[in-house]
Amino acid sequence: MAKCFCGCGRTIRFRGRVGNNYGKTALQFLSELEAASTLDPEDEGTVAFLDQGRVWRRQFASAAHGEIGMNSLDRDDWLRWRNAAFEIIRQDHAALATLGKQVMASGLTPKEFAEKTVTEASREP
Ligand SMILES: [Zn+2]
Repeated sequence: MAKCFCGCGRTIRFRGRVGNNYGKTALQFLSELEAASTLDPEDEGTVAFLDQGRVWRRQFASAAHGEIGMNSLDRDDWLRWRNAAFEIIRQDHAALATLGKQVMASGLTPKEFAEKTVTEASREP
């Protein structure tokens, strides 16, 4: 029997399964987005997007607990959020991979590379 994704320790009954699976995705994507280096945590759009994800996480927890039915949630709206989150995470991973290659090619340690990049950026007018 599956345990609830929200960490409450409850065992998920049949009617809560879909909510629990979607909730796992929401939880995972949120933690990746919170760690994404390409997102500005101060940006209004970013804050709104993350808040929307937290609302989904709460709603899916309620569905997993059997407090609400999945049919009270707008699945298309969730899929839009999920697809947008997936794309942001994909781009963030790609940006990190590019940065990783630049560090490798430079022959510097990541710390030296970061210091050099900061020094060069501060020299620009
Ligand atoms: Zn729970």
